[in-house]
Amino acid sequence: MATAGEESQTQAGRHQEVGHKSLLQSDALYQHILETSVYPREPEPMKELREITAKHPWNIMTTSADEGQFLNMLLKLINAKNTMEIGVFTGYSLLATALALPDDGKILAMDINRENYELGLPVIQKAGVADKIDFREGPALPILDQLIEDGKQGSFDFIFVDADKDNYLNYHKRLIELVKVGGLIGYDNTLWNGSVVAPPDAPLRKYVRYYRDFVLELNKALAADPRIEICMLPVGDGITLCRRIS
Ligand code: SAM
Ligand code: CA
Repeated sequence: MATAGEESQTQAGRHQEVGHKSLLQSDALYQHILETSVYPREPEPMKELREITAKHPWNIMTTSADEGQFLNMLLKLINAKNTMEIGVFTGYSLLATALALPDDGKILAMDINRENYELGLPVIQKAGVADKIDFREGPALPILDQLIEDGKQGSFDFIFVDADKDNYLNYHKRLIELVKVGGLIGYDNTLWNGSVVAPPDAPLRKYVRYYRDFVLELNKALAADPRIEICMLPVGDGITLCRRIS
């Protein structure tokens, strides 16, 4: 029989609601990815933050561990230094980013809610990467407008967007100017719980139904945007990478 400690370990390691966290067809396959590739290599602070976040009533919002690992490697591959994140929650993707950046790397992080960020902040501090983060509390849109007014066009290597899906196209209008040519924007949740292919009368949770049309509109607009190259990956709930080419 498992001890209480082993039991909570197993619970923390198990993904919840595979339909949300992964669009892989087999639950066992996703668990295999987590257990063979992700958890054994997950940095200790990320594990700690994941376990803190698992107790939060809105834990469904967090970035999954496999996506955190993906972001961390992607940032290293592109040598990202100056980055932005819209939608922080308790900071799992933020920590994955901060750990990937060089010592003089920077993340401009925004969220309308500071309380959740403060839950993760002690872990981020303990990991020694808090100095890389400039957290701004408030809606992202006016902050982006201010950056443009301040002449920050073309200054970001990487931007991760994981916030209010009904604003993604508004963000895109601004981010395409703020990211440098050759830089990347990652729009998260672009497969939106698989609902992008659900029939119109499918029984969907209210928030899934509400945001679905915005996600569909975004996906169409990104596919037609000549200023970017795109790649939609079925990692987590779907992430669309956009590389600015002009
Ligand atoms: N990336 C986070 C992680 O790894 O845990 C998850 C982000 S969660 C899915 C979405 C976040 O977007 C919430 O924390 C919410 O407060 C924030 N948000 C919602 N509307 C926003 C807005 N207009 N501007 C900035 N943040 C917003
Ligand atoms: Ca997300």
